[in-house]
Amino acid sequence: MSARKRKDILLVALGGNALIRKGQEQTIEEQFENLKIPVSQIARLSRAYRLIITHGNGPQVGNLLLQQECCQTLPPLPLEILVAQTQGQIGYMIESTLDSQLMELGIDTQKTLVSLISYVVVDEKDPAFRHPTKPIGPVFTRGKAAILPYPTVRTSQGYRRVVASPQPVTIVEKREIRKLIDLDFIVICCGGGGIPVVREGRTFCGVDAVIDKDLASAVLAREVGVDLFLIATDEPGAAIHYGKPEQQFLRSLTLRRAVRLLKEGHFPPGSMGPKIEACLNFIAQGGQRAVITSISAIEQAIAGEAGTEIIR
Ligand code: ADP
Ligand code: MG
Repeated sequence: MSARKRKDILLVALGGNALIRKGQEQTIEEQFENLKIPVSQIARLSRAYRLIITHGNGPQVGNLLLQQECCQTLPPLPLEILVAQTQGQIGYMIESTLDSQLMELGIDTQKTLVSLISYVVVDEKDPAFRHPTKPIGPVFTRGKAAILPYPTVRTSQGYRRVVASPQPVTIVEKREIRKLIDLDFIVICCGGGGIPVVREGRTFCGVDAVIDKDLASAVLAREVGVDLFLIATDEPGAAIHYGKPEQQFLRSLTLRRAVRLLKEGHFPPGSMGPKIEACLNFIAQGGQRAVITSISAIEQAIAGEAGTEIIR
């Protein structure tokens, strides 16, 4: 085995805020600029690690849904197609930004990168399909919601489409990803949690659902045999009493305490909850290190100087 093959595998899961920040106009220029913060760190880390990058797509898929609603001349596209579109869009943005950053470091000729359209299998019997809970896309008035061809839910902002968020079962391209990693490719995959598919005989069929990108990343981390799992978001880590005066960010969190705090409601579903669950699953199944940190402190977290580390 060559020395190169023995480098640890690092998986970085980038949150939606790596591209779109709250309060910004969301122009493409802003998104490229925002991406430089995590991607410049990832470029430097590629010297020491074999790398997988996964990413969210919440704001982007929401915008595509809004565009479907605005267009009267073409039939609306199903969710699975929109997820595929965001994998292409964000994959391209990460790949081209990373390419420029590698060039700045003078290591672009040694590093090959690829972004991969990825399917993630879900179980058609997953209870999430009977009780969809995940609000997505634009906000509607009550009147408009009543005539939409899909279910909606009332949220604090108004009525929004609601879809199932089933558990990821397996990543269809896991073998291909592993092979690319062994060839020292940097692989961008599982964007937006992956295109949700169910098995149909020997093939797969896309379904109207969204998969949490942190949970999908944890499945990928296990299936590919990742050594270090890092989730980058818009907060410095996981906090207890989040948003309250007694809020306190945790530097480390044992499995046992994480389970207890989850039960006590410190980490809500749909945001910090799945990040903690993803790290728990990864460490409980034999992973070495799992850290939740901010987009701007990826390198510091790997050095053990920032973020919340989930430990045995
Ligand atoms: P991402 O795109 O990174 O997945 P999410 O919005 O899904 O972002 O999750 C990050 C958000 O989780 C933070 O912006 C924060 O508002 C929220 N959050 C909820 N509970 C906590 C907590 N206990 N500690 C830290 N952040 C929390
Ligand atoms: Mg999220």
